[in-house]
Amino acid sequence: MPKDAEPRDIRHDWTRAEIAALYDLPFGDLMFHAQTLHRRYFAPNQVQLSTLLSIKTGGCPEDCAYCPQSAHYETSIGADKLMEVDAVLAEARTAKSQGAQRFCMGAAWREPKDRDLDAVCAMVSGVKALGLETCATLGMLTADQAQRLKTAGLDYYNHNLDTAPEYYGAIITTRAYQDRLDTLDRVRAAGMKVCCGGIVGMGENREHRVGMIAALTNLAEHPESVPINQLVKVAGTPLADAGSLDELEFVRTIAVARVCMPKAVVRLSAGREGMSEALQALCFLAGANSIFCGPRLLTTPNPARDADRDMMDRLGLSPMAS
Ligand code: SF4
Repeated sequence: MPKDAEPRDIRHDWTRAEIAALYDLPFGDLMFHAQTLHRRYFAPNQVQLSTLLSIKTGGCPEDCAYCPQSAHYETSIGADKLMEVDAVLAEARTAKSQGAQRFCMGAAWREPKDRDLDAVCAMVSGVKALGLETCATLGMLTADQAQRLKTAGLDYYNHNLDTAPEYYGAIITTRAYQDRLDTLDRVRAAGMKVCCGGIVGMGENREHRVGMIAALTNLAEHPESVPINQLVKVAGTPLADAGSLDELEFVRTIAVARVCMPKAVVRLSAGREGMSEALQALCFLAGANSIFCGPRLLTTPNPARDADRDMMDRLGLSPMAS
């Protein structure tokens, strides 16, 4: 839909002051606002289920301060080669049999080499043929690489903005914010859907969280999928001892993302393993309507599938149709 035909809830001109005012609302008012918009655009008790597999783990040349896969830090994660296509497809079959609707493939690269992309394209085509939605996160892309992935059947490309532009340099020094935006433009130009969000709890302040939401919501098109991650502190990374974010501030961030991007699927992403079910329930109330299911998220733990099924049953949540 062209932007001038979009409903007026869908805005690309949010100011930081307006977003900060959302954060400042009384908690109940913010939740009501987020719930109202959630129910306008989505079936409120449906949750999109994705599974994320690390297809190439560790040894990444980037220096993202939160990431145990960076070669810059001494962590317990070693460097593996790209998985074989058949092994990835076996994982995708398992994910599908256990209820996943989308299969996301993550590789610890700054950007893919063209020869690696041949194998990734074969994975994408194979996963698509299983009847799953496909997503990949492979680092920065050229226009040609984005087109190749689209042709192979890639539905979504994940590339997070991570944080506010002005805090980005405290987290990553090996690439610039603009590099991220350029890759997002190439993904859009190739006709793929965008999965793009950020991480909170990295020592940023609320102004930075406001800036992150502003950067996301003022993209030319809102991402179809917005993962909001809670930092998972991993020994050996520079953020291993970061202070913990207030839980209600995390819920507020979900709610503000829901209000500012009402049509986006907002994913309660990394960090769920450390959250109580009550906190996750508040996040669903705030407008989160997607989770990663399966016991690992790339290299960090995630709740077991049975635990998630049980939680969804108790909350009366069901899987969203693809
Ligand atoms: S987050 Fe991605 S790009 Fe950054 S170090 Fe980890 S694997 Fe590399």
